[in-house]
Amino acid sequence: MSRIDLHLHTTHSDGSFSPAEVVRLAHKATVTALAITDHDIVSGLPEAIETGAELGIEIIPGVEISSRLGNSELHILGYCLDWQDPELIQRLASLRESRHSRNPQIVERLQALGLDLTYEEVRTLAGTDAVGRPHIARILMNKGYVSSAKDAFDQYLAEGRPAYVERELPHPADAIAWIKSAGGVAVLAHPTWAKVAGEGLNELLRALKADGLGGIEVHYSTHTKRQTREYLDFAKRLDLLITGGSDFHGVTKPDIEVGTGRGGLKVSEKLLEPLKQAALGRRHT
Ligand code: AMP
Ligand code: FE
Ligand code: FE
Ligand code: ZN
Repeated sequence: MSRIDLHLHTTHSDGSFSPAEVVRLAHKATVTALAITDHDIVSGLPEAIETGAELGIEIIPGVEISSRLGNSELHILGYCLDWQDPELIQRLASLRESRHSRNPQIVERLQALGLDLTYEEVRTLAGTDAVGRPHIARILMNKGYVSSAKDAFDQYLAEGRPAYVERELPHPADAIAWIKSAGGVAVLAHPTWAKVAGEGLNELLRALKADGLGGIEVHYSTHTKRQTREYLDFAKRLDLLITGGSDFHGVTKPDIEVGTGRGGLKVSEKLLEPLKQAALGRRHT
């Protein structure tokens, strides 16, 4: 039975494989449809669409926008949007600006801690405008300062660690509105990041739904069975669409594979049609 994967990163943001490579990996993993969801950027889509057409894999245009609500960073996935919409492209460019003001400050902190690296090296390795902490983590790995990206986050880059610098982020309601105004469906990514479960998560989802949220990422590489069940239950109760994906990044998340996550991920192709219908305004508008 075929599977889909609606959460994938490429070299256009903090993934380490090009869009064409990601689509080829998906083909090998018997994925029939996939969404490229790079952080704050859609420039990887043309290459993915071209390779998808060659291999007979459907490519869903996507994006992942970071937002902040209180002390939680919420990631909002956008699906089936008009990725050539000039307003969307402009908004994503301004979101990337906050990366350019934050990242050099992270590098300065690392330098102050005695680590030898420059932001120029980070920019060169990234080779994209959507520069993220995983690129900094890769420089630290390449220089032997840390053994893995996880180690880089745990020691330096994660919230509360010595090189952490907060990034200016939009409110989730704004991220949702931008996705919707580009004709897309907005979905809450990896809901564990909300730092609330049970009634707290119920309240959050209700509020986000009032802001226009259309779905919740129920199936995800690191979800336990219990989490998957809880999110499925919320989706049903609140009439939210169900999505799922691996959040593949390549070298910075080496345990995660396209299509199968940590091995047990299986996202059904049946989830695709409702998502497309929602984007056409037939549901969850
Ligand atoms: P940024 O968008 O620059 O703030 O970086 C956040 C990104 O770093 C997330 O979207 C993840 O892709 C990645 N990330 C966060 N924590 C970890 C971790 N412990 N190990 C590897 N990657 C991580
Ligand atoms: Fe990422
Ligand atoms: Fe994310
Ligand atoms: Zn992601």
